[in-house]
Amino acid sequence: MSSSRNTNRLAKKIRNQTSLTLSTASRLARQADVYLGPSVADAAEPHQRRLEAHMAHVLASGFQDRQLNGALLGVREAGPDGRSLELTLESDMADEVLRELLPRFDHDYGGIRGVPGLRIRGNGNRLVLHDALSPAQVTVARSDHGRLRLPSGREGEVLLWKRAPGGLSRDERQEAEEWVDSACSADLRVRDLLMSRILRRPRLVNRTAAPHGFANCYTHHSGDLVIEWCCGDTVEALCANLLAHGIADGLPRGNAVEFLSPHSAHLGDRTVILNRHSSCLYGTKAWDVVAYIKKGYGS
Ligand SMILES: [Zn+2]
Repeated sequence: MSSSRNTNRLAKKIRNQTSLTLSTASRLARQADVYLGPSVADAAEPHQRRLEAHMAHVLASGFQDRQLNGALLGVREAGPDGRSLELTLESDMADEVLRELLPRFDHDYGGIRGVPGLRIRGNGNRLVLHDALSPAQVTVARSDHGRLRLPSGREGEVLLWKRAPGGLSRDERQEAEEWVDSACSADLRVRDLLMSRILRRPRLVNRTAAPHGFANCYTHHSGDLVIEWCCGDTVEALCANLLAHGIADGLPRGNAVEFLSPHSAHLGDRTVILNRHSSCLYGTKAWDVVAYIKKGYGS
């Protein structure tokens, strides 16, 4: 199929799935550097989407602007299918990914950090992170095929993930249930679907961190995930590629994608917020920032 025919097909798909005009959809489609092909598989079950979304949210909150080697959420590759998800973790971030995800009570913080209810199976090079309250699970391995190292407790931390899956404390159970029944304004079905899709598309998401080796991600509350970057893809180019890979499939059409400016877009009514600075934040200092981030991992 010719490239222009593919561009037209993608433009129509974007127009049909969003409230964008055909001319905006066509402009986006021309910026997608992929042919319209099958979308990346979604997790079929709500509990699987919920776990993946919670993981993406915790990783975004935890890493913020501390990525190495351009892996925004610490993930290099994903092997998604309808039932499960396999993640290949960036080797230099893998230990930190486990530290962020596995739940612990932090006395200094005064609450639980990580994904409440998450437990592990297996050891060595491949770990299964599973939800104690549902059949949901995600398998992780390092990109260099090395051994995964489980985090040790820091001062003031109680490692909840070491407790048996049946031994969830009331606090941990309550925290896990809050994600399912959150008081935030977001549509939880959309939130779980979109954040799970973010975790399932690391190659696209990591384009934001490619120019400098890092970008910024964070959350305001349990209903959103923000990605901020400066160089590389424009917001339209990133959206175009995400849309070509099904990020908006089946979302409520009215606010599937909204462009607030050439530098800012919202997906799913502010569930995923994409902000690109209009000029470079780092310039020649980017390497100093990378060295600083690396030092943080060593300590
Ligand atoms: Zn830059």
